[in-house]
Amino acid sequence: MRFFLHKAIRTAEFLEYGLKNRKTSIKDVIESIGIPHTEAGSIIHHGKQVGFGFYAQQGLHFRIEAIKPPLDVFSSSLLRPEPLTEIKFIVDLNAGRLAKLLRMAGMDTAYDPEFSDLDIAEKACNEKRILLTRDTNLLKRKHLEFAKYVKSIHPEDQLREVVEFFDLGRFLKPLTRCSMCNGLLEKTEKKDIVHRLQPKTILYYENFLICSSCDRIYWSGSHLEGIMGLLKKSGI
Ligand SMILES: [Zn+2]
Repeated sequence: MRFFLHKAIRTAEFLEYGLKNRKTSIKDVIESIGIPHTEAGSIIHHGKQVGFGFYAQQGLHFRIEAIKPPLDVFSSSLLRPEPLTEIKFIVDLNAGRLAKLLRMAGMDTAYDPEFSDLDIAEKACNEKRILLTRDTNLLKRKHLEFAKYVKSIHPEDQLREVVEFFDLGRFLKPLTRCSMCNGLLEKTEKKDIVHRLQPKTILYYENFLICSSCDRIYWSGSHLEGIMGLLKKSGI
């Protein structure tokens, strides 16, 4: 979590924050020093956990602890009192390739390059989606509860990072979701879509899936091997 602090104060054991007699929440203090509230796992004051709304006053001491992965989003905590009932993601523009990989792995993932930051924050809150981003300012949006700063740069590393952080292994269902639009894939008969296939695909493949939203056709064989290979390569 020190990663979010300015380089000059990153290694400091204690940080002093001047409130100048202002009354402000500990959440605002945490974000003022650079740490998005979504990265905090617990806030300790006098040996007790306190919530984001706790008033920070001059002279008080706090210990901010990072979320310890794997994060169990189905359990409530003081900082996140309303647990999720299912795992769904929303990914912003700077991690677009990660969105495709998550969908390939079967995870419900909202992504649209046209989404504004406000759209993303609202969708995350209204649809109870976990936000994945490399934009620290986006993570500081007020009502966000479940979100993660994606540290890795390469999409395959990002996938592994997210899978490990949320312990997604048991939720992965490759080839159940369209990587282009997030729609669910359904089985389809070859005879019903044969007119849309290339001659070589007709020759070599028998089993096909179709996206229930955008009509895109997938075939097990090259697609399935590709996805499984990628998950394996990501160490999943
Ligand atoms: Zn689709």
